[in-house]
Amino acid sequence: MRGNKLFGTNGVRGIVNESMTALMAMRLGESLATYLHREGVKRGVVAIGRDTRISGEMLGSAARSGLLSCGCVVVDIGIVPTPALQYYVRENADAGVMVTASHNPREYNGIKLVAGDGAEFSRESEAEVERIYYEEEPYRAKWNETGDLRYDRLAVERYIDGILGLVDVDGIRSARLRVVVDTGCGAGSVVTPFLLSRLGCEVISLNAQVDGTFPSRNPEPTEDALGELIDLVKTSGADLGIAHDGDADRIALVDERGSFINEEVLLAMMADQILSQRKGSVVTPVSSSLRIRDVVESHGCELVWTAVGSIDVEQKMREIGAVFGGEGNGGLIFPELQYCRDGAMSAAKILEILAGKTTLSEIARRVPEYHTLKAKIPIHDPQAAMESVARAIEGERVDTTDGLKVWYDDSWALIRPSGTEPLIRVYAESKKRARAEEILARFTEIVKSADAKPQ
Ligand code: MG
Repeated sequence: MRGNKLFGTNGVRGIVNESMTALMAMRLGESLATYLHREGVKRGVVAIGRDTRISGEMLGSAARSGLLSCGCVVVDIGIVPTPALQYYVRENADAGVMVTASHNPREYNGIKLVAGDGAEFSRESEAEVERIYYEEEPYRAKWNETGDLRYDRLAVERYIDGILGLVDVDGIRSARLRVVVDTGCGAGSVVTPFLLSRLGCEVISLNAQVDGTFPSRNPEPTEDALGELIDLVKTSGADLGIAHDGDADRIALVDERGSFINEEVLLAMMADQILSQRKGSVVTPVSSSLRIRDVVESHGCELVWTAVGSIDVEQKMREIGAVFGGEGNGGLIFPELQYCRDGAMSAAKILEILAGKTTLSEIARRVPEYHTLKAKIPIHDPQAAMESVARAIEGERVDTTDGLKVWYDDSWALIRPSGTEPLIRVYAESKKRARAEEILARFTEIVKSADAKPQ
């Protein structure tokens, strides 16, 4: 488990007015400003955006106050997807603050920090902001040097233009695709339906009103949550269905027959398409399916595995100049636009592929089949359980990039503690279902029995 108390795998998150309060947001604003000041950025410009959650304005105002008190210039860009804020920061600001809890349930909210180049804050920078938060007096500006608050309502427009500049707009327009888009009342509502219209699609939008009560579905776009989208794709005869999570950095797809596309299939499918246009390296975390490995190797290209977390994937992509990367949860990264997961860009890229006169079910079918199983095991002492697993796999083929990954021929298992909760995740994958089940059962048993032992 990571040692940080404040920042989890994806920023600071919690239940509003319980573990995520206005005071925390203000102090995070002060700590970020103090960090920037120390880095030599005086009167830094910090852009702030939020998803549609009800508490977004409350936490955003508190973060703005903290930043202003330290002399920062704050530019509020309103409700935007996280990738739209990142795109904005790269051109216009020294850092960014995104008020979002991404795919978490309605009662959550959180804060994610963005570096001056638009990338997610590195783990090291987060640790430094966290240190300031707990241990230091913030830098406070003199009475006549507190910051200015500005507004910029063109961030969404610029982001859409950025995407349109990188896809085959004419090709997509001429295909006249019919698309059902379910933005789940989240931040994607202000971008994706408009982007699709500009791409000449016949857009049927679902849950595209901005509403932080998330009245129709959970912000996480799982197959179970997308029943409405699936039905509408079938009854409308659409070419595909598109959904996002609450802050629209992820995408989920439904094919023309109304079948949900498994996210691991989506990742492999996209890698296949990208590599058929341009050869290069691809990056994914060790938790991803072998589907993407098989696809990348079939193109004679290299797949690089990283620790779990989009920031790890993004940093590696940048380091090696990868042509594509992503996670098996619908988080896809297109370096030609920016080094971050990007839901709207993913939508545009999918349309570009379909405009080449194929169907989504057809391109999904080309991805090799695997059986991927996952289990979450709540546990009192994750470290003891991990030690127990380590003893059990001594002498086997083990990779320690993140947790413990054991390789077998055509199969693997990954056992890793959660970064945020007292639980251990076990993944097992094989070409054969029975084998995947057997592997999952073996490690579930080892983890559980470690916890049952007297301390
Ligand atoms: Mg998200």
